[in-house]
Amino acid sequence: MSENLQGLLFPNYSKFPITLVKGEGSKLWDDQGKEYIDLMCGVAVTNLGHVPAKVKAKLQAQLDELWHVSNLFHIPNQYRLAELLTANSCADHVFFCNSGAEANEAAIKLARRYYQKVKGMKDKYEIVTFKQSFHGRTLATLTATGQDKVKEGFHPLPEGFTILPYNDIEALRGAVSGKTAAVFLELVQGEGGIHTAEPAFVAEIAKLCEEHDALLILDEIQTGMGRTGKMFAYEHYDIEPDIFTLAKGLGSGFPIGAVLGKAKLKDAFAAGSHGSTFGGNLLATAAGIATVETMLEENVPQQAAELGEKAAVFLRGRLAGNPIVNDVRGKGLLIGIECTVAVGDIVSDCHRSGALVITAGTNVLRLVPSLVIPEELLLQGLTIVCEALERAAAQAGAAAGSKAFV
Ligand SMILES: *Cc1c(COP(=O)(O)O)cnc(C)c1O
Repeated sequence: MSENLQGLLFPNYSKFPITLVKGEGSKLWDDQGKEYIDLMCGVAVTNLGHVPAKVKAKLQAQLDELWHVSNLFHIPNQYRLAELLTANSCADHVFFCNSGAEANEAAIKLARRYYQKVKGMKDKYEIVTFKQSFHGRTLATLTATGQDKVKEGFHPLPEGFTILPYNDIEALRGAVSGKTAAVFLELVQGEGGIHTAEPAFVAEIAKLCEEHDALLILDEIQTGMGRTGKMFAYEHYDIEPDIFTLAKGLGSGFPIGAVLGKAKLKDAFAAGSHGSTFGGNLLATAAGIATVETMLEENVPQQAAELGEKAAVFLRGRLAGNPIVNDVRGKGLLIGIECTVAVGDIVSDCHRSGALVITAGTNVLRLVPSLVIPEELLLQGLTIVCEALERAAAQAGAAAGSKAFV
């Protein structure tokens, strides 16, 4: 790609030196014809692989009919997708939007409006979130995010957010009060390093929300749509959220987000209270319907659970004794390999060697392959990652004058 034209974009992304032009299942090809095994799925988006047949067929049929109408008209695709999502979750109502940040923004608005307009509690607006979390890039969602780097230069930020340490029950007890409108968290923190919420911590959140009449909101944008081995990550716990948000995997790569909520919240989003021009667009909801139907018909979350187990066993076996590997963790096919060193060079090595991976924080390699990747291809990809980690360990050992890994 010409340097000149690249300069036309704001430089807000630091890009890998790769231009991908074709994808099929869990394989991708760049403009030089080089083939890659995809272990990142466009950051946990293409959970059914690239260009999945049923989603493609549904989108193509919709392309021939109609692309867009206003939300001022009935959109049957939205009703069908809402039916699929509510029938397979604890939620009763759905609002559609276009991205993760928008879904979280709407979830925060829904919680605040529920107390302010439905229950007449004007001072109950505080949102409790957690360190290392990631909730998006709008002003409210970056304020909710527990990482300072996303906030730099964007002040002043909206009021009413409290950020607590993750998995810290004592801090939680001290912070949730009558002013709390919602406790808002990821059950596995994706961008923040693949940290999993402990069951006791989640149980305490649910208990405190009940005691203080606060809503439990889950950000399932990365953990949802089968990623952790269940359709939604909350199914691993003994809880039901009042609100949860989806985006990444919902449209198999077609942009769509959703807020799902319990029946009691219905009047909080009364007519005129919130909206989106493109939200739940005919094409986006067509992609969503085909994605959810495929996941249900093919038992995709179960496949993710089984593949995740095999991946964890393989990685733990192969990486045991690697001196730069601290931990292999995660749930289902949301996998983190924590290293003692920054992993940027290891990511580049993986890419050169034909496996696409990403980071989660500075020291964690994040593996988020398709949930339907053939087992052999997955193990082939994981082998490339392990070899890159072995080379990095040898290099670190050589630098430290150790012979352990040479
Ligand atoms: C990706 C992500 C978001 C933001 O989604 P966008 O579509 O980029 O706005 C929010 N929360 C979590 C947990 C995510 O992984």
